[in-house]
Amino acid sequence: MFSGILIGKDDGGYHAKLQRIDESLLPEGDVLVRVSHSTINYKDALAITGQGPVVRKFPMVPGVDLVGQVEHSSHTAFKQGDWVLLNGWGVGETHWGGLAQMARLNGDWLIPLPAGFTPQQAMSLGTAGYTAMLCVMALERHGVKPGDGEIVVTGAAGGVGSVAIAILSQLGYAVVAVTGRTDETDYLVGLGAKEVLPRAQFSQPGKPLGKERWAGAVDVVGSHTLANLCATTRYGGVVTACGLAAGMDFPSTVAPFILRGVTLAGIDSVMRPTADRLEAWSRLAMDLDLKQLGTIGREVPLTEVIPLATELLQGRVKGRIVVDVN
Ligand code: NDP
Repeated sequence: MFSGILIGKDDGGYHAKLQRIDESLLPEGDVLVRVSHSTINYKDALAITGQGPVVRKFPMVPGVDLVGQVEHSSHTAFKQGDWVLLNGWGVGETHWGGLAQMARLNGDWLIPLPAGFTPQQAMSLGTAGYTAMLCVMALERHGVKPGDGEIVVTGAAGGVGSVAIAILSQLGYAVVAVTGRTDETDYLVGLGAKEVLPRAQFSQPGKPLGKERWAGAVDVVGSHTLANLCATTRYGGVVTACGLAAGMDFPSTVAPFILRGVTLAGIDSVMRPTADRLEAWSRLAMDLDLKQLGTIGREVPLTEVIPLATELLQGRVKGRIVVDVN
């Protein structure tokens, strides 16, 4: 038996509960992992609260991220005692995830715990941090360089936003943070933002084109905010879109793309090929000041996960939450 969060949906409705789970109920997989740490991402909060259609099989252990030690493996890449990391691949959605003390997984989804990270540090980043790195890599791939101009980061005080600011500023970019929590200005400036703007400046319907400002953008918000970022991005600039904190809609026009050559780069972390994951994690080890992780992440036990999921969706969680599952 082990402890974990289990989500059920039945006549009693949708419910998530911390409970003891029989190991024989774990799903199929060729690697059994004794989980050390997990996290709460936006998607996990949707899954736990039932506020979004994330879970597609019941019962389900949520948790799209985990770090742990291999207990048993019939996969050629991993052996007992290896430390491994998992982000995404539908884990916590269609396959039992990381918010429990044990997980049985497909070894093809795992990568070794990246060199330079403790389990806690890797989970301070988690899917949010790895996605922030994928956004930065997309800006670079499309030719945005430090010195080209300002990079705007939305949802700045959240997980993806916090890590994106820390990476970009460490790389020498001029970062402008957009937040609904301007009382967190000291936190955002501490991460490396040179200016902090209120969310309300971006969240209302805007014109197809506005005054050109941004060389690049990392957007976790979607909806009017994403449309306004595209409309105010400079000629040839790049907007990376990874989130939908304000909505799935994208009420834009083609004007920024056909008149200013703006690139809209979509970022998915879930099904990302392993080579990109390895690159993103090794870039995180190189390009992030790991001291910042102490500011960005805080650790909680499994017992705090369910109430924190609601707080996170209300935009009341700052940075990242690391879950010590033991
Ligand atoms: P967090 O909850 O940690 O951060 C989201 C932040 O967005 C909040 O802290 C808040 O920042 C801002 N926000 C919340 N609600 C609104 C709103 N209604 N309007 C404008 N801003 C809002 O979540 P994560 O950082 O973990 O994830 C952010 C987004 O990125 C989510 O939509 C998530 O699903 C997506 N995501 C996508 C991935 C992918 O593979 N494409 C991977 C990881 C995340 P502030 O208070 O500073 O304004």
